[in-house]
Amino acid sequence: MKRKQVAHLLERYRVTDGAKFRLKRHDPDDTGGGIVDRKEAEALLADGVTRLSALQELLYPHASWALLCIFQAMDAAGKDGTIKHVMSGVNPQGVEVTSFKVPGPEELAHDFLWRISRKLPERGRIGIFNRSHYEEVLVVRVHKELLKAQRLPEDLDGRRIWEHRLADIGAFERYLTRQGTLVLKFFLNVSPAEQKKRFIERLDDPGKNWKFSASDISERTHWESYMHAYEEAIRATAAPHAPWFVVPANNKWFARLVVVEAMVAALESLHLKPMEMQAPDRIRLEEARHRLLEEGTTA
Ligand code: AMP
Ligand code: MG
Repeated sequence: MKRKQVAHLLERYRVTDGAKFRLKRHDPDDTGGGIVDRKEAEALLADGVTRLSALQELLYPHASWALLCIFQAMDAAGKDGTIKHVMSGVNPQGVEVTSFKVPGPEELAHDFLWRISRKLPERGRIGIFNRSHYEEVLVVRVHKELLKAQRLPEDLDGRRIWEHRLADIGAFERYLTRQGTLVLKFFLNVSPAEQKKRFIERLDDPGKNWKFSASDISERTHWESYMHAYEEAIRATAAPHAPWFVVPANNKWFARLVVVEAMVAALESLHLKPMEMQAPDRIRLEEARHRLLEEGTTA
């Protein structure tokens, strides 16, 4: 019963019409209006992980559809933990996780979608992007000096660059979906106060120190600019074929549940059936069985 309610909940977070989107209306503390408590959410997450694994087993042999899940968020919003938990039941051979960092010289020598295209999931696979092409309209938009390293021709470096990039991203995602890649985009929405709490935990716990980077503190001071950039990105690129999920992320257990439910719902919408052999192939299987059994009597 709860599962149905949770599936219904997804509607609160799924954004398919950018024009109406306002980030302010999304509360990072929301837990579905209290529909589940932490214990129930953890049980539902475990169930979701099992269902995701079963769906991946169906996706793989068809080698037709692919699923691309994009994760974007401020630091310490829980991208890594969410990916780890949600994908924990899935056969590693069917999934590839890619973390996009500051682009290096070879990447900067190409257009910004070059490195993205190279990591797209093959048919039958799930691709997880920990950061993505959206960094080009987020961190690069907040820190415009980063554009210099991209060495764009001067004429193309104008005031409408963000609008153009967002349009190009929209067209790219439209193209991918027309090629059979489902595109889901997750914004893990954490509050500045919760981020501060998590940073302090990272500083206090030697086991978590490595997660902290000096730039994390300075990035916090640009919070408003980042939120503006996120809002603009979601407004420009949310579409029924490539929805955004604005996931309340102050409670990790709730964020993880929303993410797994969104992935399960997307794969269920494909109505994949177990692969059935067509007649000529079945005959070949019968022949193979026959040969193996014969081999058993002579060997
Ligand atoms: P992390 O994910 O915490 O390991 O950090 C990766 C860093 O790379 C983040 O600060 C991102 O903003 C940065 N990054 C990722 N993609 C780009 C990009 N296209 N341009 C500039 N910085 C980027
Ligand atoms: Mg970081």
